[in-house]
Parts: sequence; C-alpha cells; structure tokens
Amino acid sequence: MSTPDVLISGGQPQSPPPNDDIISIEEFAGHNSADILRVSGEESLENIELHLPRAKTVVVTFPAFTDGRGFSLGRLLRKRAGFEGQLIAEGPLIPDQYAFALQCGFNAIKLEPALFERHTEGSWFEALDQFDLTYQRGYAVPSGPATSVLDARPTGFRTTENAKDPYRGLSAESALKKAIEAYEGQIVLASSLGADSAVLLHMVSKIEPNLPIIFLDTGKHFRETLAYRDMLIDDLGLTNFQNIRPDPAEVKAQDPKGDLNQSAPDACCDLRKVRPLDRVIRQYDARITGRKRYQTPQRADMPILELGGDQVKINPLAYWSAKDVTAYMRRHDLTPHPMLALGYLSIGCQPCTTRVSEGEDPRAGRWRHSDKTECGIHFIDGKWQPLPVNKTYEVF
Ligand code: SF4
Repeated sequence: MSTPDVLISGGQPQSPPPNDDIISIEEFAGHNSADILRVSGEESLENIELHLPRAKTVVVTFPAFTDGRGFSLGRLLRKRAGFEGQLIAEGPLIPDQYAFALQCGFNAIKLEPALFERHTEGSWFEALDQFDLTYQRGYAVPSGPATSVLDARPTGFRTTENAKDPYRGLSAESALKKAIEAYEGQIVLASSLGADSAVLLHMVSKIEPNLPIIFLDTGKHFRETLAYRDMLIDDLGLTNFQNIRPDPAEVKAQDPKGDLNQSAPDACCDLRKVRPLDRVIRQYDARITGRKRYQTPQRADMPILELGGDQVKINPLAYWSAKDVTAYMRRHDLTPHPMLALGYLSIGCQPCTTRVSEGEDPRAGRWRHSDKTECGIHFIDGKWQPLPVNKTYEVF
C-alpha cells in the first residue's frame, strides 16, 4: 500500500481528502455528488466559476515550485469569485512559500509523502512562525545560503548634509505628499515590484491611490513577481497602475526567439526596458524613486528632492536604512516579495536573476557570469544613458 499524501494546515500535518474524491474540472459536471474540484494553476477563472456553487473545496495544482500561476489563481478565487470554501495548493511547494500561499488565500498545502520527508512537520511550523523578509534555508538552495536582506545590505550611510535639499527633515510620507501636491498631474512612480517596492506603493496608496505607477512588464519576469504585482494592486487599491510593455513589432524583429538576453543582454534590456520606459516616462516632469543613501557611495549625498536635469527626482526614502524598510513592512503588515524567501535579494527578469549566497552583495545575483550590472536605465542630463558605475541599485 502506497504512503498517503500529507495536508499541511496551520503548520501541522493532517490527512487530505481521498484522491478519489478530488474530481478534475473536465469530469466535475458529470459527478453530481462531487464537491472537491481539482484545477491546474493555468485554468481560467471563468471556467472554474461555473462549478463553484457546488464545490466546497478547490485543489489548485502547482507543477513546479517555481510556477507562480497557482498563487494568482488562488487570489482570484478569493477576491474576484468570492470563494469561501477550502482552498488547497497541491504540488512541490516548499516551506519558504507557505506564508505567501496563505496570503494568496490558500488554507492548506497538499504534499506527496517524499516531499514531507524532506520538509518535515517542524519546518512547516517554523515557516509560519518565522516568516519575515529573512531568507530561510530550503532544498532549492543546496549550498544553503542563510542570508537576509538585512545581513546583506550595509545599514549605515554617511550623514553628509545637503543644504540644497528643500525637503530635508521631512518624513518619507510628508515628502511624498508634498511632491505629489507640488507636481500634481506631472508626477509618476516607476516601480520594479522588487524587494522594497511595497513600501512606496503603500505610501502612495494612502496619499493618492490614483497616482500613475508604471511597471516594466518585460515579458521575462518571474511569475511570482506578476502574482505579487496583482496582489499589491488589489490589496492597496491602486487605481492607475500601468504595465509598460516592449513594442511587439520591435520584439518580433529583434528577439524573435526570445533569447536575446543570452547573446546580447544590453540589446535585450534596451529593447525590453530602456525604450519602452523612455516612451512613457518622458511625459512626466517628476519621478518618484525608491533609492536610498546607504545603497552606494554615489548616493551618500543624495537629497530627497533632486532638482536639475529635465526631470525632478523625489527620493522619499533617501535617509532610510534597510532596517527602516523592514520595520515599515512589519508595521503595515505588507507582504514581502515571494522570491525573497527563496534567496533572491534583488529581483529582476527571470533569465538574468539568480539566488544570492551568504555574504554576497544583494545585486550579485543579477546578470551573474557577465560584466553587466545595470539595465541601462539612467536619466542623465536629459538623456537616457548607460551608466559606467557598478551596482547603482537603480529601480530596475
Ligand atoms: S534583464 Fe535580462 S531578460 Fe530582462 S530585459 Fe535585461 S537582458 Fe532581457
């Protein structure tokens, strides 16, 4: 007799519903007494909604732990379809993903016995207990980096004064509010949906939820990033979020196989990031950034209000440390990017982002094995230019 699957609920192992009682969406309509529906993470919400009046439980399958579509579907079932029954994630998820699954509306995770042997009861319970911005060891990283955003980023910064900063002394929220009022209709936030992005998005949602927010949807992001984007838009009530995409004709002409990132990453970033952003962001007089003084020596003197050039930059978090970011996330119960828990401390496009080992710079995982450190998005003297400075922590 084969070993049964395990259901992790409340951090504890339980017995899942018998497999025979879980009916696929194709067969559900023909089983009048069935009330447990199994759907794949890529199933459309419309198809599932037809069956929800009868389904007491929906089991969403994840083919791989890196496939984030099931998270998005879980959220849609809760938020859009208003499903109130039991929602189970089935597949090779790991404890680091447990909290995110719960935040997406899942009640439980159904595991094969081999996976439960690998990640036993304690690790699931601990994942609930210790969920944080901190990276936790998982089988996905055999070398076992046990690092965190806090460990990896220096938290000190030079306290150099900048007499030219009219916003000096204002809190991040006050500076942001003042800038949004001063540049009304002409100010934009460019968000990377990265590790720290929820902070500014949350502040904006409290001040002006209809502020234009642009996100470069390169077509190469982690599915988790897209699920995280959808979650934050919903949760924060952002009403003017814009996905900026590369021109399809340019993509067809210059990257027909979708592998330009391997042969010419600069050209790929130019095609998928620099040009699309350039087309949009020039329309605004002012841009809000998440840059901070501590991040690089070049930013040690960075003011909150950065005048000069063709576009004003507002850096509300200029004086913040990494700990301030974490404290804000905790205070406002903001969900961290799900890839943080998997060891990705700087999160960009999937093909060009790897995990970071203990003690490494958080940006070390970007374009690893190449000299490239930047995507080329820097607005200098009125022009977008590649910047010959390593690790500038620019938003994308
Ligand atoms: S980060 Fe990589 S995949 Fe993304 S646009 Fe640049 S080269 Fe292309």
